[in-house]
Amino acid sequence: MSQANTMDEIQKRRTFAIISHPDAGKTTLTEKFLLYGGAIRTAGSVKSRRTQKHAVSDWMEIEKQRGISVTSSVLQFNYDGFCINILDTPGHQDFSEDTYRTLVAADSAVMVIDSAKGVEEQTKKLFKVCKMRGIPIFTFINKLDAQGKDPLELIEDIENALGIRAFPMDWPIGCGKGFKGVYNRLKKHIELFDDGDHGQSIVNTVECDLQDENLADLLGQDLHEKLLEDIELLDMAGDDYSLDQILAGELTPVFFGSAMTNFGVEPFLKAFLDITQPPQPRKSNLGDVQPTKDYFSGFIFKIQANMNPAHRDRIAFLRICSGKFEKGMMTNLVQKNKKVKLAQPQQFLAQDRAMVEEAYPGDIIGIHDPGIFNIGDTLCSSDLKLQYEGIPQFAPEHFMKISTINALKRKQFLKGVSQLAEEGSIQVFKPRFTGAEELIIGVVGVLQFEVLEYRLNNEYGVEIKKQHLPYNYIRWIEQENYDPSKFKLTSDAIVAETEDGNPVLLCQYEWSIRQVIERNEGVVLHETHLRT
Ligand code: GDP
Repeated sequence: MSQANTMDEIQKRRTFAIISHPDAGKTTLTEKFLLYGGAIRTAGSVKSRRTQKHAVSDWMEIEKQRGISVTSSVLQFNYDGFCINILDTPGHQDFSEDTYRTLVAADSAVMVIDSAKGVEEQTKKLFKVCKMRGIPIFTFINKLDAQGKDPLELIEDIENALGIRAFPMDWPIGCGKGFKGVYNRLKKHIELFDDGDHGQSIVNTVECDLQDENLADLLGQDLHEKLLEDIELLDMAGDDYSLDQILAGELTPVFFGSAMTNFGVEPFLKAFLDITQPPQPRKSNLGDVQPTKDYFSGFIFKIQANMNPAHRDRIAFLRICSGKFEKGMMTNLVQKNKKVKLAQPQQFLAQDRAMVEEAYPGDIIGIHDPGIFNIGDTLCSSDLKLQYEGIPQFAPEHFMKISTINALKRKQFLKGVSQLAEEGSIQVFKPRFTGAEELIIGVVGVLQFEVLEYRLNNEYGVEIKKQHLPYNYIRWIEQENYDPSKFKLTSDAIVAETEDGNPVLLCQYEWSIRQVIERNEGVVLHETHLRT
């Protein structure tokens, strides 16, 4: 089809990640988006799949769970002429480096916050990565149908805990059972929600003017007065609306609602689509690449092991950055200078995987990986030596020392570990001064330790000896003329090495990071690291 058609498809695309602490309502909100998009008819179907709990120690069960998160980790649906890709960021024990990497594939983020809890731990971690990338971050404060914190307190919490300015786009009228609707601050009108069937289907929104003389009767005297006071306060004391700041990720537009009852879901979706932009140019070694380029290109941000351990093949998730993708097309795997035919690509529509015939910038496709791809690889249909900006390694928070019990299995041990490191579920470090027998493994989520042990045992026949290490923080060390013998540490810290020989600091307490900076002139400690 024509270039004009590709342009249209790009303009329609919106690709965002949805981030939150577990239980804030991410799944419920996602489901409601699908409901409004017509991808599902009644709410409740996504949830029921999620409740299938897994026994943590059983790999097949983990895989089953992860299999579910494969299908639900990327969802595409249409709404109001837009084609929307939602990237899920797994929480709970499933939390891993993948969760962070997914954010690199997104163009914006929706942050869901529980109105009773405010900003929670996992939200902070995910937010930090979004901030680092400078993508727009939209806040949906959820569960307004239940008793929560004061809205002003929540706004303050976002600003203080996350270090971003917040602009309430709307303001709740009542809360708990008395949550009636919101005041839309830009349109300066009231949106009252009409509850039909407790969130199973779309709710109607009735708009009414703030000056409407019936408003006091409609809301009740108290609510009406409180609303007028709140509006005045916000207009006086709050930040000004700035589209530029929102797009630069410096100001988060905040919405109030209830995913469960659908209150505020559609106004949020509409405003989100109104403000966000289609896929923008992406950075590469050849400069910014426009999505409208006539060649297809994209990068791999996640590699998922096959659900069936009898087959070693994997699925690589590719974010399309430019041009049109067509099934069966030949591409260059730039980093390996290798031709790859993309024969059986999958796309993730609503809840099912489907074979994809064509796809456009902003879309995510899953491609069969016989073991040739690495995270951060670029695929490109032209002969350009194009490489998209690398995907950083994020700081692991749990560490373990491992070695093989049977010394004769050392080769398999190293192969297995390096394969798993390639998939990106673990990071490998070498302790200094001890022989090469032991390795330090760092992970973002502890479940990865179990996956590692199970897979080494089942796929490589290797049993391991493991020892938990007390470190909680890692920093990549950069120092001109770095000399390990002169490097000064605190008593809770050690220096280890990455596989390519770069030094890293591992320490138990956060204050050690500052101490080490003070004690070593010219040292810079990095929280993330670009793969080489
Ligand atoms: P996730 O872990 O962030 O995906 O959260 P879920 O969507 O699974 O929701 C966690 C719990 O909060 C579930 O019991 C939901 O029914 C409930 N929940 C989600 N949204 C709302 C809401 O708007 N109001 C209320 N009262 N509960 C909600």
